Amino acid sequence: MPKPIQVTKSSIPPYEQFIEEIKDLWESHWLTNMGIKHQKLEHELAYYLDTPNISLFSNGHLALESSLSAFNLSGEVITTPFTFASTTQAIVRNGLEPVFCDITPDDYTIQIDQLESLITDKTTAIVPVHVYGNICDVKEIERIAKKYNLKVIYDAAHAFGITVNGESIANFGDASMFSFHATKVFNTIEGGALTFKDPQLKSVLNAYKNFGMTGPESVEYVGGNAKMNEFQAAMGLCNLRNVDEEIEKRQLVFERYIEQLSEIKGIKLPFIQQGVKSNYAYFPVVFDQHKFTRDEVCELLKEQNIFARKYFYPLTNSFKCFGDRFNPDDTPMAKYIADRVLTLPLYADLALEDVDQICRIIKGGSIR
Ligand SMILES: *Cc1c(COP(=O)(O)O)cnc(C)c1O
Repeated sequence: MPKPIQVTKSSIPPYEQFIEEIKDLWESHWLTNMGIKHQKLEHELAYYLDTPNISLFSNGHLALESSLSAFNLSGEVITTPFTFASTTQAIVRNGLEPVFCDITPDDYTIQIDQLESLITDKTTAIVPVHVYGNICDVKEIERIAKKYNLKVIYDAAHAFGITVNGESIANFGDASMFSFHATKVFNTIEGGALTFKDPQLKSVLNAYKNFGMTGPESVEYVGGNAKMNEFQAAMGLCNLRNVDEEIEKRQLVFERYIEQLSEIKGIKLPFIQQGVKSNYAYFPVVFDQHKFTRDEVCELLKEQNIFARKYFYPLTNSFKCFGDRFNPDDTPMAKYIADRVLTLPLYADLALEDVDQICRIIKGGSIR
């Protein structure tokens, strides 16, 4: 049996590089609570993401939860169900009511016309998702948010380093959440960040990730614990040095898939949107009247020790934990895509011969 190929493979720096980076922690004994590495990474990421305001977190999910708390939202929040569990859970765990908007059939981001029709007098925010690194219609979302006085918090977990017409994706909306989980394009093992428009939010967010404390004897917010520690930050400092090279390698894999699969009937491939500099995070394929169904392709790959994933299935509005609180039939396009999508393996050092092999299986050819 060939060596297993997972949907992704975490980036790690050369071993010596990481050891060198953490050495001084044995001197300082400062392991967490916004230490030197944390400060340095925050600074370097502000530069890399070309954004003025950023705050690091222990993971992306708690960054999102904290931002929803910091904006003091109430009532309803409009979002999409075609995403990772985190987006919806962050809304519900803040005591807010998620209102699910459908997605577009071409890039799977929030559908603008429906979005505006879902706004009620209870709506306080929109949480759109730059799913797979496909960018939402940020201009239209801004127009709608202004018109109805809504906050916009992007789930930008997939959008690290992306620019639109030269502008960093970190600079849209009131805030954006990035995930630095091990499986993402840039990782700090676990980790995440918020970028935000209002510089005054910085001290508020810093309090939310540190038990709501604003000083040793002052607790002003009902916060939690979501601080990035020094080892995470050290991993980030190392990975950041190599991330551009990794993205270039991802691009080669992405383009090889396109080359191999573009003539095949019944499958819809991802594409890079106009004006977007991509990070090539994912390769989602929609099987619609192909010779194999999505589930069949998934099984055929598994037989060869290749593990694609059904990102994003099931929809978050059909999760068991919500009972019949939501109805996935309200978002038919999201349901249609979720039933047919498969995310193929993509990471920097995935061999192009492995890509060819995956494509042969999808085409139904003979296995090497
Ligand atoms: C990974 C991810 C998150 C959560 O990020 P963590 O860093 O794992 O907490 C949130 N939303 C989406 C869409 C994600 O893919």
